[in-house]
Amino acid sequence: MGGPSVLHGLEGSIAEIGRSLHERALRANPSLFDARGLRGRLAARALSDERLRSALFHFIDTLPQLGSAAEVAGHFRAYLGAYELGGLWGRVLRLGSHPALAGAVRASVKRVAREFLIEPQPSAIRRVLRRLARLPATATFDAVGEAVLTDQEAERYLQRNLELFELLARESSEPPAISVKLSALTARFDPLDRSGSCRRALARLNWFLTRAVELKANVTVDMEQHELKGLILDTFFEVLEQFPHAGWLPGIALQAYAPDALVHVERVIEFARTRRRRIGVRLVKGAYWDTEVALAEQRNWPVPVFLDKAQTDQQYELLTARLFDHPDVIYPAIAGHNLRSLSHAIAAARMRGLRRDAWEVQMLLGMADPLSKAVASEGIQLRVYVPVGDLLAGIAYLIRRLMENTANNSILRQTYAERRPLTDLLAAPHPAPMQTEARATGFRNLPLIDFSDPKSAAAFRHALDAVRSRLGSTLRLNVDGTTERAAGHHVCTNPASRDETLGVVEMAGVAHADRAVANAVGAFESWREVAVERRVEVCRRAADLMLARRERLAALEVLEVGKNWREADADVAEAVDYLRFYAQQMEALDGWRPTAGFPGERNDLTYEPRGVAAIIAPWNFPLAILTGMASAALVAGNPVILKPAEQAMLIAAELHGILLEAGVPPAVCQFLPGEGETVGRHLVEHPDVGLIAFTGSREVGLAILERAGRVVSGQRQVKRVVCEMGGKNAIIVDADADLDEAVLHTLHSAFGFQGQKCSAASRVIALESVHDRFASRLADALDCYPYGPPEDPQYVFGPVISEQARERIERYIELGKSEGKLHYRGRVPQSGHYVAPAIFTGILPRHRLAREEIFGPVLSILCAESFAQALDMALDSEFALTGGVFSRLPEHIDLARRRFRVGNLYINRRITGALVSAQPFGGIAMSGTGVQAGGPDYLKQFLWTRVVSENTLRHGFVPPSPGT
Ligand code: NAD
Repeated sequence: MGGPSVLHGLEGSIAEIGRSLHERALRANPSLFDARGLRGRLAARALSDERLRSALFHFIDTLPQLGSAAEVAGHFRAYLGAYELGGLWGRVLRLGSHPALAGAVRASVKRVAREFLIEPQPSAIRRVLRRLARLPATATFDAVGEAVLTDQEAERYLQRNLELFELLARESSEPPAISVKLSALTARFDPLDRSGSCRRALARLNWFLTRAVELKANVTVDMEQHELKGLILDTFFEVLEQFPHAGWLPGIALQAYAPDALVHVERVIEFARTRRRRIGVRLVKGAYWDTEVALAEQRNWPVPVFLDKAQTDQQYELLTARLFDHPDVIYPAIAGHNLRSLSHAIAAARMRGLRRDAWEVQMLLGMADPLSKAVASEGIQLRVYVPVGDLLAGIAYLIRRLMENTANNSILRQTYAERRPLTDLLAAPHPAPMQTEARATGFRNLPLIDFSDPKSAAAFRHALDAVRSRLGSTLRLNVDGTTERAAGHHVCTNPASRDETLGVVEMAGVAHADRAVANAVGAFESWREVAVERRVEVCRRAADLMLARRERLAALEVLEVGKNWREADADVAEAVDYLRFYAQQMEALDGWRPTAGFPGERNDLTYEPRGVAAIIAPWNFPLAILTGMASAALVAGNPVILKPAEQAMLIAAELHGILLEAGVPPAVCQFLPGEGETVGRHLVEHPDVGLIAFTGSREVGLAILERAGRVVSGQRQVKRVVCEMGGKNAIIVDADADLDEAVLHTLHSAFGFQGQKCSAASRVIALESVHDRFASRLADALDCYPYGPPEDPQYVFGPVISEQARERIERYIELGKSEGKLHYRGRVPQSGHYVAPAIFTGILPRHRLAREEIFGPVLSILCAESFAQALDMALDSEFALTGGVFSRLPEHIDLARRRFRVGNLYINRRITGALVSAQPFGGIAMSGTGVQAGGPDYLKQFLWTRVVSENTLRHGFVPPSPGT
């Protein structure tokens, strides 16, 4: 293997080769950095002004979506108006919304685009091939375009590739070379559904590869985001098994910025050797660096790429050497524009005496023409990566490349714009000593399980089996240690399969509720006196216990309420977060705090628990919400009575067990499985219950508020009701919205957990110009998701909670047919409580479908003429829980921030999945009492404040204030 010592021996030749390449490559500038001409000047300014650079790219990003001249002008001004632009773009800016502006801007962007991608026409292909032949170089083509969200789009992607194949076969004397993205071959390329994703991608690839074999083509599978890497590699190996024919060259791209890249290189070499199969490996540094780092930070996952660029560069050289060591089975393509990496590769190949045709260098079209000329004239085989696509639709590609190559650490920027000295450019990469990652302090959410790791998926499958094997027992009614005669029975069933009984829960009646309240009253004094550190410790221990049982708890949710794996895991993670977050918050509220520093007077405030708390929870976040409300009450010093929803009692019993095991005394945390209308109501009205924490429907919530406000005989305190209710949440899709994003995020916001989230989108208000396209893409995308039992991870969507819910939702769907137009209806199995998802168009704000919470997989799409009207429509609701906006116009985003008054507003992202602490969650207006769970103010609702003021003056003597 090529270790550092081998590399050392190469330094002399690397320097020599580098100097020669550099001399030739610097004779001209690549057009991107060519400061002559208008575009060059703008690009040069963008390089020196980070904000302008970002504004410019943001503006270009919106272009394909913009229709009228006025829209183009508006965006141009919004992004670039603050800059003094000279030349044509400056003049263009002064044109205002003149129709000429749109044309001029589009033409200008197309001109830039044409340098980096070509249109899929024979003449353009011929031109580029001729141009490359002069270098000399060959090409590999890549059909770029919009994101693939639907099967129709995947089909079109395949068709584009097939057409490209035929075009190349006709136009070129060389065997065609194409790069494909596996994620674009199916609408659902999901590592959790490994075999299904692989099967779907292969089904499409089949034709394509049959033709590849005939044409002796060279097909390289592109590497994508980290999460997809395992799946891409598995699918690639499957392709090789299914198309063992010699003659065509299969290839895979591998990314040196991934610390585990060597493992994958070895796996490919091993495969090639055992199957006696030649495989191409395109070695790249990696194009998703920023996204990988940002996503890992957001998810609190380990960052899957090197943070130090020098580590990537160093690994790149190691991998190059490794690939060069196997010329009989590996055909390396060294892809990049880095003078040092290329010089190293050339030196390493020469040192090994590799034949000219044993490897090649690859570069991107238009990125570094002078360098590519220099490489070709060294006698190295060169292949140019040519993206093919509509110039405007391919803009995502263009932006990514422009961002990458104008970033501060871009080697092209350093070579051409900054003119770094040659010794710097050719210096061997020296990574800085490994730094332990400096994580931000403060609250950290529990990372979700990364199911792209097959080990995690296997552990979850195992947990499902284990949970199922232990189901079926009867949970005896027990009030504070005494087994009681039950008031009834509740049979818990799996909503995905009507006949599967999960267990039986003995139900409490009002007499049990009375006893539980009496126990709690008796326990209050002592629990209040327990030191805050102890209560905090108990919560943290409960969090640890929950974490240790994470998969089991989530598996139980899958069976009891029909959540899919990811959603169930997220619910458990949120529960752990609540325990830890409120523990941390309570630490900060502990003790007496001075309110003012007057001499001779002491003023102190303290927080104290309020009394017995009834915790009345819904079933849809069965662990998180119950845990959140209960842990806030407990850590604050209140005894709790857990009254879970009837549909989620098994998971609630698990929580009860965990809290007791963590050290909460039994009388301080009692489990009271009972019906809402009887036991729940009784608790609310009980004179000794001082605090009610409720989450559920508006109907029940308002009734609770009213009843709790009625003072009954024997009552000693005004009841506090913490009340989180439903929503009728709207997403506005603006005329300039990125539809790839808007469709995908709306799909998950509206149909995730079958729409049974209080935060779910149930209205979309789309601007006229995007309405039809949005509606049809959304329906097509949704149609790619089969419905089925969520314990099988191929199903993202499953049943609704009960037969009663199913019937209620079906009635709304019938109503929708008379109020609007049924735009889409899915298909579902018959075996459980399934509702086929429905999308309605033609719904007006006054329709019941637009006003009432349905709590199921039903989405109404309304149409608005302007953004202002869309905002009015969104706000025309009695609910105000969540809302969303997809827009790229800064003034619309600002307007939404100011006026879209809901508890949680989400901009350009999905509207579900709030994280404890980062996104405190809860509604305002008629959706809740307005203090969000998981936020800085929530805990105080479970506490009184008391203030003590003491005159410390004694006959004119002022004692020193405490602490001085
Ligand atoms: P629900 O209102 O039917 O029941 C919630 C809880 O209240 C259950 O434990 C139930 O037994 C109890 N209950 C019912 N009638 C009662 C009464 N008369 N007195 C006292 N308790 C009574 O709601 P659900 O079907 O379990 O949950 C779905 C609803 O919850 C939706 O409306 C959803 O929007 C809402 N929700 C809101 C949030 C939020 O944070 N705002 C979160 C989750 C769910």
